[in-house]
Amino acid sequence: MTKSKIYEKIYNEKDLKVDDFKCENCGGETIFDVKEQKLKCLYCGSLFEVKNDKFAQERELQELLSKGEVWKEAEVFQCQSCGVKEIIQAGEVSLICPFCGTNSIVKIDEIPGLKPQGIAPFKITKKQASLLAIKWAKKKLYAPNKFKKSVKAENLHGFYNPVFTFDANAISNYHGQLGKNYVVTSYHNGKPITVTKVRYFTISGENKAFFDDVLIQASSDIKADILKKLEPFPTRQVLEYKPEYLRGYSACTYDKEGGACWTECKQNMDRIIESQILNRYDYDVKVALNIKTKFFGEKYKYILVPVYAGNYKYKNKLYNFFVNGDNGKIAGKTPIAKWKVFVTIFVILAVIVGLFFICK
Ligand SMILES: [Zn+2]
Ligand SMILES: [Zn+2]
Repeated sequence: MTKSKIYEKIYNEKDLKVDDFKCENCGGETIFDVKEQKLKCLYCGSLFEVKNDKFAQERELQELLSKGEVWKEAEVFQCQSCGVKEIIQAGEVSLICPFCGTNSIVKIDEIPGLKPQGIAPFKITKKQASLLAIKWAKKKLYAPNKFKKSVKAENLHGFYNPVFTFDANAISNYHGQLGKNYVVTSYHNGKPITVTKVRYFTISGENKAFFDDVLIQASSDIKADILKKLEPFPTRQVLEYKPEYLRGYSACTYDKEGGACWTECKQNMDRIIESQILNRYDYDVKVALNIKTKFFGEKYKYILVPVYAGNYKYKNKLYNFFVNGDNGKIAGKTPIAKWKVFVTIFVILAVIVGLFFICK
């Protein structure tokens, strides 16, 4: 079955106002073309400008915690093969799951959640991303050769990952006790003996901090530590969300609500505040530190950031690696070929044994 046939089978075009995205010249499907940064007709190649000169505006945090705008014009699909849930714009053509590369995704009865305020469209093409990924894979010493050969443009799939960014001012009052080491030298039978002692001192004061665009991963499809390795994303200047940017791509659903993301963000901010306070002092030991922080002027953005996923099945296990669709940074897991590890261990052992006999 061709892709377009499957497409017809799954979508009820009438409901989805597919016409909004059809080529004005031939009626063909359009997708967002990264190189041109325009919508491009898949059939006649006509290009259409995405009219958008606005950047995503930050909103009051209270708005997120109380309600939020539901993403009505999008629908949730689930991959029958790997289980990942994906949001697809009404009338979308892309039916390849970015995580496992299969096209067995079906619509499910779920609400897509919040409508994103902003989107950072892909800036590097699939081809560019694959060239970077090939270089990255080559350096993976223990990855199977088959994996290295599988890294190519057709096995990469672009999608948008949902994140929250938060801004906040913080005023903290603190008090605590720190200690500084010092050395005492005494003489015993003419021999010097040194003993390290600690001089304790109390601290207290006020710390002011401003946080701008602290990024919190909202989806568990890419683990937060992997996403961290892909950062930075251009969160300061993300465009206002327009459905055109999603043409040809899907977005992951978020499984962490805005409130939970804000709680996680505050914990990150608390850690930064603590290190800001401690950095003011010359100390060796922290005995106690009590910090009371008031956050104010909290703002948030819910945005989509571009990622290419590469997938590879090795011994029935799915491995994913990801390429930042804005700056080309790569992170992810690769399978390990056991024989390569054995060869390395064997070579090391052989060298050790060799050295033993040479040195003997
Ligand atoms: Zn056309
Ligand atoms: Zn899948």
